[in-house]
Order: sequence, then structure tokens, then C-alpha cells
Amino acid sequence: MDFRDSPEEAAFRDKLRNWLGENAAAFKASGDEYWTGQGEWHQALYRAGFFGTSWPKAYGGQELPPVYDVIVDEEIAKAGAPARPGLGYLVVGLSHHGDEELRQRFLPGMINGTERWCQGFSEPGAGSDLASLSTRAAKVDGGWLVNGHKIWTSLADQAQFGALLARTDPDAKKHRGIGYFLVDMTSPGVEVSPIQQASGRFEFNEVFLIDVFVPDDMLVGEPDDGWSLAVSTMAVERTAIGNYVTIDRADALRRMAEITGPEQDAALRALGGVEAYGTAIKAMVLRETLRLVEGQGPGPTSSIAKYAMVTLLRRAWTATLGLTGRIAMLEKSEPAVIQPYFDAPAELIGGGTPEIQLTVIASMVLGLPRN
Ligand SMILES: Cc1cc2nc3c(=O)[nH]c(=O)nc-3n(C[C@H](O)[C@H](O)[C@H](O)COP(=O)(O)OP(=O)(O)OC[C@H]3O[C@@H](n4cnc5c(N)ncnc54)[C@H](O)[C@@H]3O)c2cc1C
Repeated sequence: MDFRDSPEEAAFRDKLRNWLGENAAAFKASGDEYWTGQGEWHQALYRAGFFGTSWPKAYGGQELPPVYDVIVDEEIAKAGAPARPGLGYLVVGLSHHGDEELRQRFLPGMINGTERWCQGFSEPGAGSDLASLSTRAAKVDGGWLVNGHKIWTSLADQAQFGALLARTDPDAKKHRGIGYFLVDMTSPGVEVSPIQQASGRFEFNEVFLIDVFVPDDMLVGEPDDGWSLAVSTMAVERTAIGNYVTIDRADALRRMAEITGPEQDAALRALGGVEAYGTAIKAMVLRETLRLVEGQGPGPTSSIAKYAMVTLLRRAWTATLGLTGRIAMLEKSEPAVIQPYFDAPAELIGGGTPEIQLTVIASMVLGLPRN
């Protein structure tokens, strides 16, 4: 297979590179400023033709092959620009499982960034074992009354809408009786409480749902089939995480090496190892992308991508601290070192913990028996 750009892809890449050169500096690539500016960044990318490139034209996309998303991610990383907002899991969930009315209502705003979204899956008693969730959706006239408590909901404080899992049938088997709802976050009874992390950063929230009315037409798919929807959207999310983090970290390290110079041999060797490992993950993510190009759904390799990313992160931060030494203590070092170091534990957990990915790989990829 020829991995070089076609003439059309090369022209797209050039246009993007020029656009990033002129526009990216106005947006922050990390920390709280990234999250607060993410909505504007999303809309700027979309208006310039660099967001939603592979999604259907009917909903505001361009229907280009997914390789254009890869080009966008690569050029964004090279420019040190903020990451492309990762919304694929929501778009895929709604495209595959929502009816046409829901798609027409929500996909355009989701893709062009004028309506912001969050995902309310995790609860204080249901994280890795998500099917233990206890948020309850009780059937009432014309809709559902939702009561429960979500946690670690990224961006809930900025989102107009949320995709929410809630138990519709408490008597059904654990993985059945769960519904996937779209919730207007301004509805009466939705209370959002931001959580400050050890790093000082925000991003997460607790969401309390007290007698929140969700109309019937905001249920996606069947009332008892939300679990299969959640599983397919989480696979898309994991691939995106693996892809973004790989590109981002390898590039940050390269820039770090340029600053610190070649005198620290051991750390530079570690950097070489990280680069090689990162290149291998990129090849794997590309393979996953090719599966998507061929029209196949996301596969269990999403768990390998996520797990490999975790390994890369661990190696990357050891190498980075080795390279920078005391410079790392400077709060404003560029690229930032300490802030992402403190953020690393959260990145390891988001989209599913390493232990859970290993379990998925063992059973779904290697076919090992489960006890
Ligand atoms: C950056 C980030 C963003 C997030 N964004 C969102 C979001 O937008 N929406 C949302 O709903 N959630 C979000 N989350 C929550 C995330 O999905 C959960 O934190 C994650 O699924 C783990 O659940 P938990 O925190 O309850 O940990 P637990 O499930 O309690 O796990 C604790 C520890 O036990 C281990 N463990 C658990 N079960 C097993 C097992 N069977 N075998 C071996 N080890 C096990 C885990 O690996 C982990 O080390 C986010 C989390 C992070 C860090």
C-alpha cells in the first residue's frame, strides 16, 4: 500500500498548514484554557473546512475519506495547535442508532460546534463496571423521569446537551434494561458541580439529576438497548484517544529535545524509544482507520490502541523529565512539562483504565477464556 498523499490530499494538507500558521496561535493547546476555548476552536476549524471532513454532507460534513481526519490530526500536532475536539463517538452513536429526525436535529450542531455535548455514563458506583449504573429513567406520560448521579462528566459545565445512560428496567439482566437518552442540560432538575483535579485543573463535573423530564423522542434506539450503543461508541472514543495522544506526545518530546540539546544521552535514547513506539502505534491506528474506510465498524484494536497509548505516556513522561531536569519545574516552560505530568493519571483512566483494556484484549482479541 502507498501511504503517500494523493495530489488532492497534498493540496488539502498545504491549505491546512497555511491556515494553522495564520490562525492556531490564537488558541491554547493545553490546560483549562484549552477546554474553555475548545468550542471556538471547533467552530473555527469547521468554518475553514477542517472539521467533520469524513461525516455525511447531509449533516454538514464533507464525506471525504477518513484519511483526511488523520491529516488534520497530524498537521495540528506538527503546528502545536489544540487537538481536534473528539466527538466521533457521539456522531457515530447518533448516526448508527438514532432515527432520521434525531439525526437532522442534532448532528449539524454537533458537527459544526454550535451545540456542545457531554457524555454522562460514569457514576460514583459504576465506572469500569459501567453496567452497574443505577441512574433510573422511569416511564411517565410522554417521556421519562430521570433521577441519579453522574460523575467525571467532561465539559458538562459548558454543554447544552448530554448523552446519558440510565436504567429503564431495574428487573432486567444487568446489560439489558439500559436506555441511551439525549438530555437538554438546561432542563429543570439538572445540577452541574465542577470538580477540581490534583493538577489544579477543572474539566470534570458531577451531574445531579433530580426528576429530570426527558421526552420520548430524545431516546435513541430501544429503551432496553442502550448498552450495545454505549459499547460501540466507546470503541470509537478509545481509538480517537490512542491516535491523538500518540501524535501529540511524540511531537512535544521532539520539540523538547531541540530545546535541551543533545548532551543528555540516556534521556535522548529514551526519547528515541518513545518515537519508535509512537510510530508503531500510528501504524496500528492507521490500520484501524483503514478498517473504517472499508466500511467496517470499530474493532477490538481500539483497546490495543488505548493500552499502547498508556504505555507510551508512561515512557514519554519518564523521558521528558529526564531530558528537562530542573527546567521541568518552570511552570511556564514551553512545551509544558509539569502540567501534563500531573494530568497523566487522568489520561490513563479516561476512555477505560489500562486493566480493563487488558481484559478486553485477552478475551476479545486473544480469545482467552473468561472465568
Ligand atoms: C480524562 C477523563 C475523562 C473522562 N470523561 C468522562 C466523561 O466525559 N463521561 C463519563 O461518563 N465518564 C468519564 N470519565 C470516567 C471514566 O470513564 C472512568 O473513570 C473509568 O471508566 C474508570 O472508572 P472509575 O473511575 O469508577 O474507576 P474504577 O472502575 O472504580 O476502577 C478503579 C481501579 O480498579 C481497577 N479495576 C476495576 N475493575 C477491574 C477489573 N474487573 N479487573 C481489574 N482491575 C479492575 C481499574 O482498572 C482501576 O485501576 C472520564 C475519566 C477521565 C480520567
